[in-house]
Amino acid sequence: MELSYQSTRGGQANVTASQAILQGLAADGGLFMPTQIPKLDIALETLASMTYQETAYEVMKLFLTDYTEEELKSCIKRAYDSKFDTEEIAPLAKAAGAYYLELFHGSTIAFKDMALSILPHLMTTAAKKNHVDKEIVILTATSGDTGKAAMAGFADVPGTRIIVFYPKDGVSKIQELQMRTQKGDNTCVVAIHGNFDDAQTGVKKLFGDVRFTSGLAEKGFQFSSANSINIGRLVPQVVYYVYAYVKLLENEEIQKGEKINVVVPTGNFGNILAAYLAKEMGIPIDKLICASNENKVLYDFFATGTYDRNREFILTSSPSMDILISSNLERLIYLSAGCDAEKNKELMAQLGEKGVYTVTQKMREAMADIKGGSASQKEDADEISRVFKGAGYLMDTHTGVASAVYQKYVAETGDPTKAVIASTASPYKFAHSVMEAIAGSQEGKEEFALIDEMSALSGLPVPNAVEEIRHAPIRHSRECDVEDMEAEVRDILGL
Ligand SMILES: *Cc1c(COP(=O)(O)O)cnc(C)c1O
Repeated sequence: MELSYQSTRGGQANVTASQAILQGLAADGGLFMPTQIPKLDIALETLASMTYQETAYEVMKLFLTDYTEEELKSCIKRAYDSKFDTEEIAPLAKAAGAYYLELFHGSTIAFKDMALSILPHLMTTAAKKNHVDKEIVILTATSGDTGKAAMAGFADVPGTRIIVFYPKDGVSKIQELQMRTQKGDNTCVVAIHGNFDDAQTGVKKLFGDVRFTSGLAEKGFQFSSANSINIGRLVPQVVYYVYAYVKLLENEEIQKGEKINVVVPTGNFGNILAAYLAKEMGIPIDKLICASNENKVLYDFFATGTYDRNREFILTSSPSMDILISSNLERLIYLSAGCDAEKNKELMAQLGEKGVYTVTQKMREAMADIKGGSASQKEDADEISRVFKGAGYLMDTHTGVASAVYQKYVAETGDPTKAVIASTASPYKFAHSVMEAIAGSQEGKEEFALIDEMSALSGLPVPNAVEEIRHAPIRHSRECDVEDMEAEVRDILGL
């Protein structure tokens, strides 16, 4: 049976999966959602003996129903290969009483690789299926990790170009170097004088500007997105929650039917929404714990039912979570309103106009399994240090936020349910903050010196992704003001 997709704001329906992936954002500014969330049609014990790639097929085929078996298997095979430094692709590490699901073994050492190593294949396959004759321009806003992972996936892919906007002072040194040294004739990186929300809002505005997009179409270009607003990002992310659960079963860490909690360090609400979808598909997940840093707009939302972005934007040591407008929350709002697009549209209009909205009591009840938590930069650093010194396990600053929030959750509730914590980046990506957490002030130290010290201290080898940029030449130096993003895109495309 074919699954169709529709906009969360009601303006587009009967869209196939491949069309939704090609388009990225719906024409009315909404996000694409399937008309129903499919249930896993295979026993978990059977899944438990499968490889990551086989599991990916079993999960993704249920969502991407207009891809043939051959097309989907080919995309999966090309995505999850030796670009990952372990055959497990997403290994689980048990440390200090929790299971860390390591999602950073891909080529850019952050969890964005889990979806962005397959998205280019899904997209070029979709272009073929839908007879697209235009060049696809991927417009991407990044809080630091998406940009690099998307460029790594799309670099030199024929028929595509990719333009990445990142907040100039809002990413780590390694994140910035990774992007600015990116190779590929079709890649372009722009630092904007603003924060991530400015970048994402600017990109969404371009998508919604009919005058601009139709002008581009005349010149032979068509936009798409590599952000998690694209359903082609979310579907591959569901896979690793299914995989983690069945591996726990296989390793007899849990019993058949036993529920687990899942803890996710959250920014744009994409990763945790994928866990929510895994739960809806039938994975025994009890609580979803949504961990925020000091930009705790989501924590406040789950505590009160009011989303209020009118607050100071704080630059923290977990920059990929420095976000006040979490785009994918719109998908949860839509689902919890019983797929009522009108209600969702009304709330999103309030968000756009006043920056604040309140959901109904009924909607709050529908999302009761999601618990918000937040951790300060100090709590984050203390947690990294505690787990490193106590259990010899070193985590990055984003995972540190999740781990700290989980500790607080257990202290408050006494909940004995076993927990999987999404570990979203290698500690090497945030060397400065991680070294400060485990070894005190590192002021004035050079980034690569810190990286070598971290390796000596932790015994973890320096990943290729970091060695690669140690001496790589800078290839991108564009900068612009937020208001000039459209002009920048025109200039890049030669319009
Ligand atoms: C993107 C990112 C996050 C936040 O994920 P969302 O899907 O945006 O909620 C957390 N940690 C790291 C390292 C990231 O790159």
